[in-house]
Order: sequence, then structure tokens, then C-alpha cells
Amino acid sequence: MVSSSKVLTAPRGVSIIGSTGSIGKQTLDIARAHSPALSGSAEEAIRIVALAAGKSKLEDLKEQILEFQPDLVSVPDQASKEELFNRLKEHGKSLPLPTIMVGEEGLLACAEHPQAGTLVTAVVGFLGVKPTLAAIKQGKRIVLANKETMVAAGHLVQELAARHQAVIVPVDSEHSAIFQSLEASLLRGRPQEVEQVLLTGSGGPFRTWSKEAIAAATVSDALNHPNWSMGAKITIDSATLMNKGLEIIEARWLFQVPESKIKVVIHPQSILHSAVEFVDGSIVGQLGLPDMRLPIHYAIFYPERVPSSRVPRLSLSQIKQLTFEEPDLERFPCLALCQEVARRDDSSACVLNAANEIVVESFLKGKIGFSGIARTLERVVGEHKPIKAPSLEDILECDKWARQQASLTLAALQTP
Ligand code: NAD
Ligand code: MG
Repeated sequence: MVSSSKVLTAPRGVSIIGSTGSIGKQTLDIARAHSPALSGSAEEAIRIVALAAGKSKLEDLKEQILEFQPDLVSVPDQASKEELFNRLKEHGKSLPLPTIMVGEEGLLACAEHPQAGTLVTAVVGFLGVKPTLAAIKQGKRIVLANKETMVAAGHLVQELAARHQAVIVPVDSEHSAIFQSLEASLLRGRPQEVEQVLLTGSGGPFRTWSKEAIAAATVSDALNHPNWSMGAKITIDSATLMNKGLEIIEARWLFQVPESKIKVVIHPQSILHSAVEFVDGSIVGQLGLPDMRLPIHYAIFYPERVPSSRVPRLSLSQIKQLTFEEPDLERFPCLALCQEVARRDDSSACVLNAANEIVVESFLKGKIGFSGIARTLERVVGEHKPIKAPSLEDILECDKWARQQASLTLAALQTP
């Protein structure tokens, strides 16, 4: 189980990797409400010290720099750095410009920034692994949105976090709910008292669709999530229920529970964000509106609960009904594949994650149909020779192999 340790000093220095995405922007909204100038108490003040983002939204990044004035910024390459620098200069405000770094070196520098006691991992995919491990080695708090890091390298993350007493607080709404449920029960650190984890999921846009209709689903059908507004990759993962499957593996490592104790429950209203059932029969869960600012706010201020002007309130009397159902593994084969991979507890999870990143990108570009996603993943995982307790080198190698293998499989699928 996750344990709390280090006490943070005020104001909280926060670094965000992936600041222009859905989670990144919502994190900055929390930081805006807790800016050192506005915050009544220094303990509740947040100072943004470093930001890293991809190359597609440099204008947004420029605005973030002007507003939050971080010391350090990182972008993927030299061309993005020049473009960002010119945009900042054109703006003409007489502000001290941040240091701008590029590539992996820049991402790592953001993660390791000495003024940041907290790293928010809001990038998508395997890209998050190295910076997360780097920040853990320095004992920083990890506000973990980037679930792919836990899927691909969860055992390494936990080993390192224990060694360096780094606190990992999940942002994924379900995992935040499980984390909070374990806190409420005072049973943290006693996994034998957990009967099972009840991992809820909305069921995505195709919950009620037939197998045939799902197979013919378009990109815009799949991007039309009923409850959450999120980045493109996680939205497609939510349509295949791959997201729920990745979350099983994420929970397996975050809470050190085997797959056999993680039960997926479909809950279309997304109000109960997940729950824990204890051996005495008690179920403790966390409820809230579907708004990621709540788990982000909770993770930043944990273990304190601090008032928020940003988190919308749930009114129980206004909810007409909460419903629950079993997931359908036949219509959603990605979920079944993740369960199998989670049971294996080896490098297959890293392979599945990498292949999924390639396949989702291909689907978003219209190169394959919806049913091609599961088919390709099953094939790539089937061809992998699993490694038990993989090292970081093994993980990097498996990730690379799976990307190549997925691309080859996709090319074969597209050949008439
Ligand atoms: P997103 O696509 O909206 O944002 C991704 C961010 O990563 C962007 O800022 C992008 O610029 C940045 N990025 C891309 N390449 C980069 C690079 N080379 N270097 C630095 N930054 C780079 O994604 P999101 O929806 O915010 O999701 C982020 C993570 O949080 C994912 O792992 C996702 O599974 C997880 N998560 C998201 C939500 C949600 O509501 N959006 C909920 C739960 C978990
Ligand atoms: Mg989630």
C-alpha cells in the first residue's frame, strides 16, 4: 500500500510535464486558484516552477509562461524552442524569460527541478517513465496522472518510491477514489484486510452498442465520450475499455493488489469513482461530479484537505439514480486482454501499453477500423516472450520491440 512520508514546505513548488493537455490545464487552474498572491495562507500557495509540453500548442504554452512565470520550460526540439522564444519576445512584456530546454534532457530537468517538491505527470504514454523515475529518486511527491508509467514500469516505480520515500498520489479519478477509500478506513498498509477493489467505469460511448455497430464505429463516434472531456488517446482507450484495463494494471501496482482482487463495475453516471470492499463486508467509496480538478486538488494537498473554489459540488438529492452492471468482455476484448496481462504480472503489460499507443494513433489517423485495435494488440502480446520482474533496460527494450511489432502487424492488416 502507498504510505505517506515527507512534509512539504510552503509555497509548494510544482513542476508539470504535459502542461498544455487536459490534465495539465486543469492542474494550472488549481494553481491559479492557489497562486502565492491570492492564497491567504502560505501552506495553501502553489508556485509553478517548471513546465514541459509537446509542440502542438506552443501558443498555449506561451500564455502559461506569461501567467505563471516558471523558471524552466521544456519543449521537444530545437525548432519548437526557437518558435516559443520568438513568440515570447514578440509579446514584448518586460518579464524575465525562463530557461528553455529541449527533448529528454529538458523533461528530466523539469522533473528534477530543485525548487519543485511535486511533479505532476500529465504527459501521455511511455514518455512519462524516465522523468517519473528521476523525480522519485529525489524523493519528490508524484501527482500521477500518467497511468502508462504504472502500467509499463509499476514494480520499478514502487521499488524506487519505497527506497527514496517518495509519495505517489494518483490523479486517475478511480485510483484517487481507491486511495481515499483506503485512507478513510485507516487500513492503509494492511492489504490482507482488502477483500477486493471495485474499479468503476462509465462503459464509454459504446456501452449499449451491438458488437457489429462497435466494429463499424468511426473516429468521431469513439471520441464522443458521454461523461469526461479528455485528451484524444485516453478517449479512444475509454471507447475500447482499454482504459479500464490499463487502470486494472495501474491499481495492481499502486495498491499492491493482485488482479484477482480487482473487479471492474460499469457505472454509467460516473459519480461513484471507485470503492474498496473490506473483509468484514464494508464497502467504502468516494463520490463526486466527473471533474478531474477534484483528484488533482486532492493529490497536490494530500494529506490535508484544503477548500477549493474550483471543484464543482455534487448534490446527492439531485442525482436521480446510480446504476451498476457487469462489463461485457465479448464486446470489449481489450478489457479481457488487459485482465489476462495483469494476471501474468510480467513485461507483457509494457508490451501491451506500447502496442496500444501505436494502434490508437493509427486509428485516430483513420488507417485502421475500430476492431483492428484489439486484433493487433492480441497478436503483438501473443508474439512476446515475457520477462518476469523486468529491469528498466528490459522495459525500454520491450517498449521499442512492441512499437515495431505493432507497426508491422498494422502494415500486414492494411495490405489487401
Ligand atoms: P493530453 O493529450 O490532453 O495532453 C498531453 C500533454 O503531453 C500535452 O500537454 C502535450 O503537449 C504533452 N506532450 C506531448 N508530447 C510531449 C513531449 N515530447 N514532451 C513534453 N510534453 C509532451 O492528455 P491528457 O488527457 O491530459 O492525459 C494525460 C495523462 O493523464 C494520460 O496518461 C492519461 O491517461 C491520464 N489521465 C487523463 C485524464 C483526463 O481526464 N484527461 C483522466 C485520467 C488519467
Ligand atoms: Mg480513470
